[in-house]
Amino acid sequence: MTDITDLTLEEKASLTSGADFWTTKAVDRLGVASIMMTDGPHGLRKQSGATDHLGLAGSVPATCFPPAVALASTWDAALAERVGEALGVESAIEDVAVILGPGINIKRSPLCGRNFEYLSEDPLVAGVLGSALVRGIQSKGVGASLKHFAANNQETDRMRASSDVDPRTLREMYLRAFERVVSGEQPWTVMCSYNRINGVYASEDPWLLTDVLRGEWGFAGLVVSDWGAVNDRVVGLPAGLDLEMPSSGGRTDAQLVAAVREQRLSEAALDLAASRVLDLVAKAGRRPVAGPLDVDAHHALAREAAARAVVLLKNDGGLLPLRAGSSVAVIGEFARTPRYQGAGSSLINPTRLDPALDALAADADVTFAPGFTLDDTGDAASLCAEAVAAAAAAEVAVVFLGLPAVEESEGYDRTHIDLPAVQLETLAAVRAANPNVVVVLSNGGVVALPFRDDVPAILEGWLLGQAGGSATADVLFGRVNPSGRLAETIPLRLEDNPSYGSFPGEFGHVRYGEGILVGYRGYDAKRQAVAYPFGHGLSYTTFSYSEPSAVVTADGDVDVTVLLTNTGTVAGREVVQVYVGRAESAVQRPPRALAGFASVELAPGQSTSVTVRAEARDLAYWDVRVDRWIVEPGAYTFEVGASSRDLRGSVVVELEGDQVTLPISLDSTIGELADHPVAGAMARQILEVLDQAGDGAAEMMASVPIGRVATFPGMPVTLEQVRELIDTANADL
Ligand code: BGC
Repeated sequence: MTDITDLTLEEKASLTSGADFWTTKAVDRLGVASIMMTDGPHGLRKQSGATDHLGLAGSVPATCFPPAVALASTWDAALAERVGEALGVESAIEDVAVILGPGINIKRSPLCGRNFEYLSEDPLVAGVLGSALVRGIQSKGVGASLKHFAANNQETDRMRASSDVDPRTLREMYLRAFERVVSGEQPWTVMCSYNRINGVYASEDPWLLTDVLRGEWGFAGLVVSDWGAVNDRVVGLPAGLDLEMPSSGGRTDAQLVAAVREQRLSEAALDLAASRVLDLVAKAGRRPVAGPLDVDAHHALAREAAARAVVLLKNDGGLLPLRAGSSVAVIGEFARTPRYQGAGSSLINPTRLDPALDALAADADVTFAPGFTLDDTGDAASLCAEAVAAAAAAEVAVVFLGLPAVEESEGYDRTHIDLPAVQLETLAAVRAANPNVVVVLSNGGVVALPFRDDVPAILEGWLLGQAGGSATADVLFGRVNPSGRLAETIPLRLEDNPSYGSFPGEFGHVRYGEGILVGYRGYDAKRQAVAYPFGHGLSYTTFSYSEPSAVVTADGDVDVTVLLTNTGTVAGREVVQVYVGRAESAVQRPPRALAGFASVELAPGQSTSVTVRAEARDLAYWDVRVDRWIVEPGAYTFEVGASSRDLRGSVVVELEGDQVTLPISLDSTIGELADHPVAGAMARQILEVLDQAGDGAAEMMASVPIGRVATFPGMPVTLEQVRELIDTANADL
């Protein structure tokens, strides 16, 4: 491998920015190859002609797997890993060294235009599935690019806005999934985001890119900028930004060279960045040769993943599954013109496309009516009348509703979560003609479901990728028993969402005012009713849970065990979810947070013992006093169930936890000191004296700093004694 000392200053600088839109620069003199990095994330977008980062120009055909919003609804890491492997294979075949994904940002608001590209409102789901994707991709000798690092949770003003987040929230909600994937899987690259975090551009933040990412999490790969995220490369490079993409036409390379010559930038920092590019190129060179693309096999995997992603939101009276050969009115343009992925840089040119209409026609006696158009053209009244006639003549009406492509995209956010009025009107008319209505939804971000009490069955299909239509038919006709689970809450109203009122901010700042109460954590804390809760999803069978039991492992993890039984008549998959909460705590906590989950398949009547591990690190909170993860000693309640609001049992476990010993000072309160190993006796003595003074006096004084109390008349200690005690107490720290 090329040694960094073989390179000239100019060559080193040139290595740290792109040659064009998608490739790094070669150094021919030394045999350093150019490598390609390209989108991602749910399929390969390799452009062979014109290039852009907005998904405008064409790209080579590739399998369009279900986008992250759908893949996350599988809650199935093994499946995500297989999808990752397929992405790796397709990248390798096209000689792509790094595929730009997965995107694991937390869905803070349902309005984020890019929610279809992100996994969950929960950091554990995002971290576990993100890890599986990276593992799969990299097992094929292709690098992943974990993006967008960090706190990039909206598209509004995305290249400037500062995400203003307090340290605990940043760690627990917005860095958590990145920490898990980086420390567990070592992605070859991490992509820094466009935005600023607490005023500092991600691409220039030494705390983020070096102290945390490398120092704390042990990242050994390369940091690449999001396309155009570089503000000032002379500042960014020593902060930890190794590679600027796309090309700056050599302009910023010259800035680096000048900065080194003028001693404004250390050459060692440039050496480090350039050597990381050399490492990446060398890794890419070791990739095994990949065979031809098995289009059928990858399409089949896309179909399997899509069918597992569909979430059965409701199914009153067992309307589903439909009977093969029954008469079905298929209504809605989406059945014929599927919406199966989102717009922007992730736009894949699919190898094939399965419209639901074609798939359903093979299963049933189908009459189709578009019901509405996707661009508001056409005669709405006659389209609706045609749909009503079709519904009236059929046993069942399957109505495909969703968001037209322009309503959500990379680059901008939504301003509401409503479905187009014309679609709701068509649905109401169809329902009046035939109450046996199944609604199938196609949407990248959540939508309000004002009709949910008026129709017997709803399938949330998200955006399902190129095989979504056949996968939907598989579920509707029961070839696949639905088992998807919501990885984000569907609220009743946008206004209920915890970020409402502080999204998307103004004048270049967005304040993460809800703190750690993101998604279900917030809805639960405020005891708000929701349309469908986090973790929800029905099946054509039913499952029963025994009371859980729990044991603490030597590492402080908690193994929670239940006996799970398939009590229905068909085989099915249950996603067993374990949530943790604490009735009392020194820090604010949500009522419950997901601590572990398992995907379990059972034949009818079959029982199995399921153990879900809640790792100690997922029980910890970020303690801002000591800047580290702390497991608070005491009682933890583990709730087990089929969703965050369908909890079937609970078990309480005492954890030894971590001790936090802080230096004490004159500012420490009497209450804080009462349990202190050295100062406790004095504090308790004072509290006793106060107690004699009358009702509640001790409680009132518990929040008074000891330095002040000691000066009050009648206290049993002097200020000098307190000072001495503080010195003794702190001596051992
Ligand atoms: C997006 C990235 C993408 C890059 C390259 C940017 O606009 O934010 O996710 O990987 O373009 O297309």
